[in-house]
Amino acid sequence: MSQTDAIHAGHFPESNWGQSTVPVFQTASFSATTAQELSDIFTGQQPGFAYTRSSNPTTAALERRLTELEGGVGCIVTSSGMAAISSLLLGLLSAGDRVVASAGMFAGTLTLLTKTLARFGVATEFVDITDTEQVAGAIDAQTKLVLVETIGNPKMDVPDLAALSQVTRAAGIPLVVDATVTTPALMRARDWGADLVVHSTTKFINGHGTAIGGALIDTGHYDWSTSPFEHIRALAEVQGKLALLAYLRTATYRDLGPAAAPMNSFLIAQGLETLPVRMARHCDNALALARFLDKHSLVDWVNYPGLPESPYYKLAQRQYQGRGGALLTLSLGTRERAFRFIDSLGLALNQTNIGDAKTLVIHPASTIYHDFTPADKRAAGVSEDLVRVSVGLEEPDDIRNDFEQALARMES
Ligand code: PLP
Repeated sequence: MSQTDAIHAGHFPESNWGQSTVPVFQTASFSATTAQELSDIFTGQQPGFAYTRSSNPTTAALERRLTELEGGVGCIVTSSGMAAISSLLLGLLSAGDRVVASAGMFAGTLTLLTKTLARFGVATEFVDITDTEQVAGAIDAQTKLVLVETIGNPKMDVPDLAALSQVTRAAGIPLVVDATVTTPALMRARDWGADLVVHSTTKFINGHGTAIGGALIDTGHYDWSTSPFEHIRALAEVQGKLALLAYLRTATYRDLGPAAAPMNSFLIAQGLETLPVRMARHCDNALALARFLDKHSLVDWVNYPGLPESPYYKLAQRQYQGRGGALLTLSLGTRERAFRFIDSLGLALNQTNIGDAKTLVIHPASTIYHDFTPADKRAAGVSEDLVRVSVGLEEPDDIRNDFEQALARMES
């Protein structure tokens, strides 16, 4: 994805005033000039907008931009990353279906599967997503999709997406890739075989921590007309590659109400314009910090796929344009030491977000994963002494100095 595309992709035909940014259409509903026109908009005979829970011009502009940047056939923008994932899973799956998913994913996705979807009769088999054979072995006749993150947050494991896509293609099921941590700036998931891409746009895509948002993109690889999803298959005759998105737009997404606020779509579209330049700097800063921490005597280990010592280094280099991303984790021996370290940081903020311009740290075991059992924490790669860092855009020396003084104070 080029910086030029990030700024110019997603042509905006709805307004002809020559504005340089996408305007905020802060309105719940839209007037039609005739009853026939509104009926035609409702029935899809005519393009247009009726009600912001289904679509809105500001959000539609962001959808067009994300579609183009991901090389997809269409996109639905949602109120959060979890809204994108839950709308997709609720739109696709039925009681009795199974999901094969990475054990090392974001806590919200894990509990969506283990708590909410399990109550509706959807079971999940959790696997080591870096072991493609294990993934293949976990798929059975009831399995309807495989769900992975490009870099597990916070496990930091990296799946071989091309190999996984061969497995899902052979099984006739879609590969769903949460690309929040890498973004289209590091990798177009479509090029590595992803069928569906989800993002929490709250993170690097927005980039400034100003709005919660999400997106689902259909890359166009998956043939819905031969899929095991009866309700989507029925639509494929008319809608073709857009069958899933059409189903969501006119059923699950419309009915559950996860629409994005227009103001948030504006903020996220604005953030997206600088994503490639920010992402390069995020990754440079993360690599510099990882190298410093890796050599520090008070740090037990650093987990960062951009370090040559990482078991995922080669794969990450290949898949993510020679970059390791902007997240890293470090182990400090005990929970008490991890707490003392976080409390001693000055520049880095103790927050539960990632992908902000500011460097953020968190102790996942006592926060995001606080209600997980010890075994489930272990499976997710969350130990009691682990600190996660989302490396920001500050001067690399300032970040390093802050971490250096916090490590020194941790000992005193
Ligand atoms: N996916 C990943 C990889 C995440 O890190 C997060 C949030 O941290 C989500 C999904 C959920 O996104 P949101 O907080 O926008 O709902």
